[in-house]
Amino acid sequence: MKEATYDIVVKNGLVIDPYQDIHEVMDLAISNGKIVDVRKGINESLAGKVIDASGLIVTPGIIDIHVHCCYNILNIGIDPESCCLEKGCTTVLDAGSTGELNFRGFRKYVIERSRTRILALLNIESLGMIEYGSQGQKWPKLIMEYEELFINVENTVKVIEDNRDVILGIKWAHHGLTGLRLAREAADRAKCILMAENHLEPETIKYLKKGDIVTHSFHGLKWMGNPYDGILNEDGNVKPEFYDAIKRGVIIDVGHGAASFSWKVAEKAFSQGVKPDTISTDLHVSSVKGPVYDMPTTMSKFLLLGMSLEEVIRASTSKPAEVIGMLGEIGTLKPDARADVTIFKLEEGKFQYTDCMKESRIGKQKLTPVKVIKDGRIII
Ligand SMILES: [Zn+2]
Repeated sequence: MKEATYDIVVKNGLVIDPYQDIHEVMDLAISNGKIVDVRKGINESLAGKVIDASGLIVTPGIIDIHVHCCYNILNIGIDPESCCLEKGCTTVLDAGSTGELNFRGFRKYVIERSRTRILALLNIESLGMIEYGSQGQKWPKLIMEYEELFINVENTVKVIEDNRDVILGIKWAHHGLTGLRLAREAADRAKCILMAENHLEPETIKYLKKGDIVTHSFHGLKWMGNPYDGILNEDGNVKPEFYDAIKRGVIIDVGHGAASFSWKVAEKAFSQGVKPDTISTDLHVSSVKGPVYDMPTTMSKFLLLGMSLEEVIRASTSKPAEVIGMLGEIGTLKPDARADVTIFKLEEGKFQYTDCMKESRIGKQKLTPVKVIKDGRIII
């Protein structure tokens, strides 16, 4: 039988694909933008291009389900190409940067022109996240004043229906329970997922159903005068409402951001058995220069917290793919999946990582992306 020819063969990398239960040194073959084979001993002489991944880790293209990449549309947005794709994230979910009034520009001028695969949640607020100034400074008073005026459920549902290929759901930020109720109504009417920020707890989490997402899960902020907002109550225990939510299939997401990740809160939650389903950055104009930087740095922080490499990669590949309904097409290196591949170097040493409370910890490992392939095309 004649052997196939390949566009790219990745040789001798430690392939970690939690979806297929693979954690082994293997080769990977790519043709026509798809994965065509994963096994030992693929004949590289049949490949147009050979990548030697000896000593490196080969994973499905990383998926970050909380970013703000409405670049040049709203001030909050970062450039998805340099901040996400070139850092290993072949697919991102924009978490409600725009709303029904400004989504179209985001779609036309960013989503359709980027090599990064960008999907979106529509903000329940019609104007999306307009509260950032041109220097990244926040104007919370502006949004608080107008929060309830700028929501139109009817139009929100219509924009979702017109853009089903890109919009996967609704995002509710932290602007009042009226907004949350309307977000729930819009998500139910549009039959889509709802992502809510972990604020005004334990009320917010009660609104979330199976497949919905709570983000900023490990924030350590006081919020609206409530010192115990978020996942923990005053005695440091996980609020019972969160266990109920986990039981009914609500997704626990990281959403690190500039103010939404605390080592102490994460450690307390971990010690009570609550770990994130999905690791995500909340990359935006005020988090990209630190403390977030990028997805590999965020993943490395969860290695520091004691998650295994396998768990960290699952929470950044197959699990987010499942959450956004694309598992099999992305999130795995299974033959016939899109050829999205991230190749990492895992360095051992002493690395400083900082949370949003300005507390630093020293980790022993650091993931650095060295090669990114999206739809069979080499990006870096
Ligand atoms: Zn965000």
